[in-house]
Amino acid sequence: MTSQAIQQLTQDFVMETYGRFPVALDHGQGATLYDPEGRAYIDFTSGIGVNALGYGCQPWADAIAAQAKKLGHTSNLFYTEPPAKLAECLCRRTGESCVFFANGGGEANEGMIKLARKYSFDKYGQGRSTIITLKNSFHGRTITTLKATGQDVFHNFFFPFTEGFRYADAGNLDSLLETAGEDVCAVMVELVQGEGGVLPLEQSYVTALADLCAQRDWLLLVDEVQTGVGRTGTLFAFQQYGILPDVVSFAKGIAGGLPMSGIMANEKCRKVLGPGMHATTFGGNPVCAAAGLVVQEMLNDRFLKEVQEKGDYLRKGIEALHLPCLGKTRGLGLMIGIAVQDGWSNQDLAKRLIENGLLVLTAGPGLRLLPPLVISQDEMDQGLEIMKKTLS
Ligand SMILES: *Cc1c(COP(=O)(O)O)cnc(C)c1O
Repeated sequence: MTSQAIQQLTQDFVMETYGRFPVALDHGQGATLYDPEGRAYIDFTSGIGVNALGYGCQPWADAIAAQAKKLGHTSNLFYTEPPAKLAECLCRRTGESCVFFANGGGEANEGMIKLARKYSFDKYGQGRSTIITLKNSFHGRTITTLKATGQDVFHNFFFPFTEGFRYADAGNLDSLLETAGEDVCAVMVELVQGEGGVLPLEQSYVTALADLCAQRDWLLLVDEVQTGVGRTGTLFAFQQYGILPDVVSFAKGIAGGLPMSGIMANEKCRKVLGPGMHATTFGGNPVCAAAGLVVQEMLNDRFLKEVQEKGDYLRKGIEALHLPCLGKTRGLGLMIGIAVQDGWSNQDLAKRLIENGLLVLTAGPGLRLLPPLVISQDEMDQGLEIMKKTLS
């Protein structure tokens, strides 16, 4: 099919919930994508932080094919090897104790919220159920995670939302203490706010927050749906902040492009969700888990160090272009935000870059780059060249 025909068919039969760019993608190699007519695009997006290993990764495709031929799915009433191995790997590499697998980021956060409320219910009884989240955060699109999201624009249309969330200023412990009360059971944060604009929390704030949570027996819930799985240059962002959260959610990059998510909990929270308390039909699917194991194998210490180096290279390269429409860069590893100067629209800049063969994302009022973690030096340079030509 031609790009044109694909776009027409989509408009005719798929619910129009996305503002799409007029590009159809067909295949890819490394961090380069191609449309059906063979036009190349350098990818600074990885879907949205999903395709950690880029496109056409042979070990990844082979593991998926082999597992699909053996066993594509079975229920969680039985045991299978791939999710057990993936859970072991995640725990050994992070210091967390156990994993629950689900399918998407919002769903993983729902599980994390349920766990926090159940922990408090078991120990303190009813009424201690409020979760504090941070302003400008993003936690998902379900009725509950929309409400957990600390941005008013998301609290519309779909009333009534789930009760029991309050919002504190990000990075401000005084604001958190003012928001707190006897009814609080947990605090939930992104260590680098993703959709909100690529805004990392400061080390001193995160350390103080972890101490406060431990003192008050509030669970510290970290949403690593976007920051997890190597994106920030460590396997999980919490590892470079030197904390061990009570519960961590992950999704996007975990299986390198197949739908999978989950939560990891520490020893204190291991037994909170018992049999019959939480479940999902597809969770821990063996094909997705087999793909996840390949991602884990690739993301060794050397690879993660390269993610940090590539992030530094791209940020320096962008700032060195001195483009009139762009300001400073920020972020961790290959999670990069670029400020857009007053008078320019991030949507408009993204549109122009995409037209010129460079896929980028927006976040908050700025631009956001989440390239495949395997992106090559040559692909980074090609991307920078397109930025220079398009935005000068
Ligand atoms: C993308 C994202 C989500 C939602 O994930 P879905 O898979 O779209 O449900 C939740 N939290 C954060 C931090 C995200 O970046």
